[in-house]
Amino acid sequence: MKRLLCFIGVMAVSVSAAGQVPAPAGAVLYEGARLITGDGSAPIERAAFLVQNGRFVRVGRQGDVPAPAGARRVDLTGRTVMPALVDAHSHIGYMKHLTSGPQNYTRENILDHMHRFAYFGVAASQAMGTDFGELPFQIRDELAAGTDPDAALFLTAGRGLAPLDEISPANMHHAAYAVTTVEGARADVQELALRKVPLIKMWVDSRGGTMKTLTPDLYGAILDEAHRRRLRVAVHATDLAEAKQLLRAGIDVFAHMIADVDDELVALFRQHPDTAVLLALCAPRRIVSAPWLEPVHPLIRETVRPEQIARLHDRLAGQTPETVERGRQAWERLARGVRLLAQAGVKIGLGTDGGGQNGDQFVGWTAHAELENMVAAGMTPMQALVAATRNSAEILGLSDLGVVAAGKSADFVVLDANPLDEITNTRRISQVFLRGREVNRARLRAGWAAGLSSN
Ligand SMILES: [Zn+2]
Repeated sequence: MKRLLCFIGVMAVSVSAAGQVPAPAGAVLYEGARLITGDGSAPIERAAFLVQNGRFVRVGRQGDVPAPAGARRVDLTGRTVMPALVDAHSHIGYMKHLTSGPQNYTRENILDHMHRFAYFGVAASQAMGTDFGELPFQIRDELAAGTDPDAALFLTAGRGLAPLDEISPANMHHAAYAVTTVEGARADVQELALRKVPLIKMWVDSRGGTMKTLTPDLYGAILDEAHRRRLRVAVHATDLAEAKQLLRAGIDVFAHMIADVDDELVALFRQHPDTAVLLALCAPRRIVSAPWLEPVHPLIRETVRPEQIARLHDRLAGQTPETVERGRQAWERLARGVRLLAQAGVKIGLGTDGGGQNGDQFVGWTAHAELENMVAAGMTPMQALVAATRNSAEILGLSDLGVVAAGKSADFVVLDANPLDEITNTRRISQVFLRGREVNRARLRAGWAAGLSSN
């Protein structure tokens, strides 16, 4: 993030490089909203915050934050403001309408996904190990330099590390480093470190002993090589026994919820308080319940083509009773585990797995579905919001994001209703601001509307 901070610092003074968009320099005082700062403290009713040069300058109660001479004042009475969301687990560039795969992995499609995140109030999204080639690093650097005010930041783990046959879905196989030796694993991590990825992604999932997976000597080498370079390691691992081994080995982030939780696992998390869990509950929960599909939420209608919505509807409606019953049992186990981890104070972050899963994880929308899933699992709305803002920013090392506080990047969402009353109110989006500038949601919506009717 040093790079980003540096760029923002330069932009605040002047911008001369072609294509860069300067942060608005004039001070703006936003007054009257209920403010959820993202740090878990009680909301500030009738708050005020001053934004200048793309950053929060002062935050407090209305009347306590003076407006400097010439400042513009914006009345947000009746609204709720929260930090922009951070999605710590996504697969960017693959999904496009009814298809999902590397054929869609183009500059245009990656940028479209970053626009979708911004539209839904997501400030940054971490692609989890399915990027490839030069393109992701180019786009990451361009967006970090502020070339597109309507795009979220694109974070990439580059290529993930795994035995090939372990990566699901199959359309993402090609991106991985196939790890077979300790020396090879270390070389792969070194290559990623040169690319300045914020974290390394690996897969350790034997799917109940049916698949060859990374052995402890191989993932131990990955962890050691990454930690020497101050890189964190995120793992796809859902099995309880494998999760315990990984915790003992020093894993930093679980990219998914662990399928089952027992006292020993909770004790291991207590011994490793910096290890975080991204829940990624969208796929397991929708087998049992997808209330946003009946009826289809307006935010989905305005961003996703009807045939893609219909396909998901048909897939869910076509599940056998046995599948649904197995799914219900799995969901109840997951939910119980989420409650145990939340009660134990384990650091939980937002990871949607959006953009993956054969086209059913609508990009951007999944963040709001996931917030609802977290609360359905038993987290409080405040716990879910902190997970999706401050915690996720911390997990990704984004020191500039996740909270509304002086000095941070002015990335925030203005809502028409209070998500602490009802978590689905995060969907009542009035405006999204990234880096101090309002995202032009009407323009983005018009662009998608033109595509929604075609085909
Ligand atoms: Zn994933």
